[in-house]
Amino acid sequence: MKRTIISDILKEHDPKKLEGEKVLIKGWVRAFRSNRFIQINDGSCLATIQAVIEYEKFDEEVLKNITTGSAVSIEGEIVASIGSKQSIEIQTSNIKVIGTANPEDVQKTILQPKKHSLELLREQAHLRFRTNLFGAVFRIRHSISYAIHKYFNDHGFYYINTPIITGSDAEGAGEIFRVSTLDPINPKLNDDGDVDYNEDFFGKNVNLTVSGQLEAELAALGLGKVYTFGPTFRAENSNTSRHLAEFWMIEPEIAFADIHDNMDLTESCLKFICKYILENCFEDVQFLNDREIQEEKQKPQNQRNEMSLIDRLKFVTENPFKRITYTEAIQILLNSKPHKKKKFKFPVEWGIDLQSEHERYLVEKEFKSPVILIDYPSEIKAFYMRQNDDNKTVAAMDVLFPGIGEIVGGSQREERLDILKQKCAEFNIPEEELWWYLDTRKFGSVPHAGFGLGLERLVMFITGMTNIRDVIPFPRTPKNAEF
Ligand code: ATP
Ligand code: MN
Repeated sequence: MKRTIISDILKEHDPKKLEGEKVLIKGWVRAFRSNRFIQINDGSCLATIQAVIEYEKFDEEVLKNITTGSAVSIEGEIVASIGSKQSIEIQTSNIKVIGTANPEDVQKTILQPKKHSLELLREQAHLRFRTNLFGAVFRIRHSISYAIHKYFNDHGFYYINTPIITGSDAEGAGEIFRVSTLDPINPKLNDDGDVDYNEDFFGKNVNLTVSGQLEAELAALGLGKVYTFGPTFRAENSNTSRHLAEFWMIEPEIAFADIHDNMDLTESCLKFICKYILENCFEDVQFLNDREIQEEKQKPQNQRNEMSLIDRLKFVTENPFKRITYTEAIQILLNSKPHKKKKFKFPVEWGIDLQSEHERYLVEKEFKSPVILIDYPSEIKAFYMRQNDDNKTVAAMDVLFPGIGEIVGGSQREERLDILKQKCAEFNIPEEELWWYLDTRKFGSVPHAGFGLGLERLVMFITGMTNIRDVIPFPRTPKNAEF
């Protein structure tokens, strides 16, 4: 008999149609009550299906192994349920235990059916896929990834893969992981007494990529519209709830486009993804929505979300993002209550890099909506961003989301060779290192733009999870690379 996936049974809106059907299901036992009702989940959906057994009809040896956490295979007939929690159940005719789970050992793990802290779930990240919460989060994470590919494919973008090992540090931020096969104890030294990278695997100093943008630009200047979707690495030693050392980034890049096209693209893309998840993952979203409401009850009134998760997602899909310039944002902050009452930790003046408290004020207090900020001071942004006519600002773009802060960072790129060379000099970037990048500005250079969207920040927004470690299966953070 062919196995049926539980979601295929439960998604049938009219259960009457299924009655009498014989099925074979396989999954993990969530609970076994009254020697009669087995709750089974196979990961295909949030809900469990109930299999009913007549205890007397089965071998004692088999039955005693049906315990929470064990894996079973059940054959039976779908019948109407008399219980109120489900409309159908399986009348079991045959049951096999595929993998046992010793109850004493289960007691020591998060498989034990009760409420566990997120910290404990993180320590048992190998088992947390079995919980309702992480089942929901990772099904949604999958669907977000799928929606991203769908969006770009439907809009004529080509998916390209940029290198993970690279010699360039796109941001110039220096927060890189070096990659080397040199002997860490006794590396060969050169005449100056420095490590001789000529001896290294690639014959030069290389690192894990912090962004695929520079390479994506090269591709866009031939293929027109491209996007990358891959792992990105940053050795930022900031132990925040929004930073990982290894995260996934989506970087579209479009030729013949300016900063306004870039804003339109990011807004339409983010709206599409939120809508897609509301339409295709509603059971999981509803679960997370209700869970958040329960959690919020523990918090003081003024720390609770003003909108529920579902309302926040609908808000994004239904309302235009607020678009303002950096200079306007500084004006708003200077006029704000927290600034006047000296409540901000960091000072506000034109030229500063906005701190998270400033971003949150703009998004959560002033506009109560996603905000796109453009035209930042050149000094605080990367060398490749296009110089504006005022000679003070660049065509940079950050998208700020409620509860998350920066979710997207992007820009129109400098396409004018002379200005780009000047910027390299100002930022101390040797032209020889980026000869291939500069080359594209010599042969049919065109205005182009793109952005980087952090997948995990987006998953946080869509699931309402507040720690980035809980939206990636195995988080990599300072001092933590378990699993
Ligand atoms: P932040 O100021 O929040 O550190 P950033 O300015 O360094 O972000 P960018 O270099 O513009 O970010 O990267 C583009 C996007 O990648 C960000 O908007 C964010 O969504 C995501 N991102 C950046 N750093 C991280 C990180 N360490 N962990 C997870 N996501 C990140
Ligand atoms: Mn950063």
